[in-house]
Amino acid sequence: MKIRVLGGDGGIAPGLRTTSFLINDRILIDAGASATALSISRQESIDYVIISHPHIDHVKDLPFMVDNIFGAREKPMCIVSVPPVIGHIKKHLFNDILWPDFAKIPSKSNPTIVYKAVKERIKIDDLTIRMYSVNHPCNAVGFILEDANGAVTITGETGPTELIWQKTNATKRLKAIFTEISFPIEQEAVANISGHFTPKTFREELRKIHANVPMYIYHLKPRFNQTLLNEIHDLKIDNLTVVEQEDEFIF
Ligand SMILES: [Zn+2]
Ligand SMILES: [Zn+2]
Repeated sequence: MKIRVLGGDGGIAPGLRTTSFLINDRILIDAGASATALSISRQESIDYVIISHPHIDHVKDLPFMVDNIFGAREKPMCIVSVPPVIGHIKKHLFNDILWPDFAKIPSKSNPTIVYKAVKERIKIDDLTIRMYSVNHPCNAVGFILEDANGAVTITGETGPTELIWQKTNATKRLKAIFTEISFPIEQEAVANISGHFTPKTFREELRKIHANVPMYIYHLKPRFNQTLLNEIHDLKIDNLTVVEQEDEFIF
């Protein structure tokens, strides 16, 4: 499984890109940077866009990408998530107000996008992607991706949580965990109320994670970037790395 970090920042400022991971060149996990990072021909090759939750930093490039690929593909691009998240995207994004409803453009029988609401899992080629609720607003989910070579957890955004760790612990051949740290230690109250980790709450969370695998951190809020890098460094956790834009991993 190939994972390329198109964006892993917790906000926008010059040079920063919000969350988007490209999986095996044709699947996106979140679309915070896909139109920004990929050429139009690469965008045309995306068959599935899997959305963790509808917050703007995770969907903001989706309207532009859909606009770019309009008329260029044989098949519609498929937007995938759990049913409530699909509902939010239909109602609040492609709603003919914020952006045209590309599920009926150019026609209902030949649309640019289709939606796929899945309860827990979807299989794409030899890759199985499972979705589990995490502690973040708007019905957010995290993911466990698995193929013949192993499994990777991508939690999406979350504060202290349970289910995805239970499922991660039960997953054999786990190769890596991607998760977030958004706010510095002094902002713990804000982090807790908004469903995010600080370095301190993340360290406490490690007790729930049994696997000893590399952990990759993303979603640092830009204003606190240097403080967070210092605090994460001070955790002195082996195998913990803050991802950088355009990092590529093979698992
Ligand atoms: Zn969010
Ligand atoms: Zn976010």
